[in-house]
Amino acid sequence: MTVAFPIDLRSDTVTRPTPAMREAMAAAPVGDDQYGEDPTTNRLQEQMAALLGKPAALWLPSGTMANQVAAMTLARPGDEIVTAREAHAGWHEIGATAANAGVQIVEAGSGGVFSAEQFEAAIKPAGLPVFPATTVVEIENTHNRAGGVVFPQDEAVRICALARARGIASFLDGARLWNAAVASGRSEAELAAPFDLVSVAFSKGLGAPAGSLLAGTPEVIARANRNRRRLGGAMRQVGILAAAALHGVEHHRARLGEDHANARRLAERLARSAAVALDLATVQTNIVVFHLRPGAPDAAALVARARAQGVLVAAFGPRTVRAVTHLDVSAAQCDAAAERLCRLLDGAAEAR
Ligand SMILES: *Cc1c(COP(=O)(O)O)cnc(C)c1O
Repeated sequence: MTVAFPIDLRSDTVTRPTPAMREAMAAAPVGDDQYGEDPTTNRLQEQMAALLGKPAALWLPSGTMANQVAAMTLARPGDEIVTAREAHAGWHEIGATAANAGVQIVEAGSGGVFSAEQFEAAIKPAGLPVFPATTVVEIENTHNRAGGVVFPQDEAVRICALARARGIASFLDGARLWNAAVASGRSEAELAAPFDLVSVAFSKGLGAPAGSLLAGTPEVIARANRNRRRLGGAMRQVGILAAAALHGVEHHRARLGEDHANARRLAERLARSAAVALDLATVQTNIVVFHLRPGAPDAAALVARARAQGVLVAAFGPRTVRAVTHLDVSAAQCDAAAERLCRLLDGAAEAR
C-alpha cells in the first residue's frame, strides 16, 4: 500500500473541513449574532450547553480568546490564577493573560496535573496587604504540553470543592475535552460538572476551521459576552462557522479513539529508538511529546530533516518534539512517519 506524503503531525489544528462539513456550512441559516439572531449559532450554544451540563454557552472565535475572556470574567487586574505547570494560558498565548486581563499566572504540580494540596499551597494568604488575591483555579484537560494527559477527575472534584470553600472560581480549559471524554469513558458533562466555567474548542480534534465556546451560568456568560465584545471577538453571520462546529461534534467526536490509537502506535515505535526518551504513560490521547537524548540531533534539526522527508512535527523545546494525530492522518501514515523519524534519529546515532 502506498502512503501519501507529506504527513502533517504538527497539530490537530491543521485539519481541513471535509466536503460534508463545507456543505453544512454553505447551507447554514444565518443572522446577526450580535443581535442574538443567528439561528445556527443559537442552536450550537443550546446544544453545547446541554452537552456540557451548563445552563448557558457562548461561541468564541478561538481558544485563546476563550481563555482571555475567562480570565477577564472571573478575575480582576492584579489577581492570580493557579494553573498546572506549562498551561496553554501561560505558555502559548504570548502573555495575553497579563496583557489583556492584567492577571498573573502561578503554576502548580508537574506533568500537567496538580493535587488539591498543591493548589492549597499555591493560594496566597488573605489578610496581609502585600499578597495578590488568588481568585481563579484553572485545569487544562487534556494537557497539551504534558503530552495530552487526562486530568484525574477525582482530583478535579477535590480542587473545585476547595476552591468553592475559599471563594475561588474554577475554570476548565477543555480545548481537548472531547479527547479527555473518549479516553476516560466519562461524559463531557461529568468532566465539566465541578467547574464554574468551561471552554471547548471545535478547531482541534473535531476538525472545524475555527471556533471555541464557553459554558457556565447565565450570569457568568452574560459577563463573558461583554468581554468577548471588548476583545473584538463578537461577530455577525457566524452561523457558517457554528455549522462547522455542529458538524464536527456530530460526526467527528466518536472517532477520536482512532486518533488515540494512532498516537499510541507512533509513540510505541518512537520509544524503541535509542535516541528518544518517551514516557508511554503520558500517551493517553492524541498527543505524543518526546525528548531527544544527548547525542541525538536537537529538536530544530530533527524538525528540519523530517520536513525534508515529508514528515511535519513541531519543536516544543530545545530537545523536545510534539507530534499530534488527527482526522487527516491515517494509521498507515502514522506508521510511515514513525519509521522515517526513527531512521533519521538512529541513522544519526550510528553515524557518530
Ligand atoms: C489550542 C489550545 C488553546 C487555544 O486555542 P486557539 O484556538 O489555538 O486559540 C487553548 N487551550 C489549550 C489547552 C489548547 O490546546
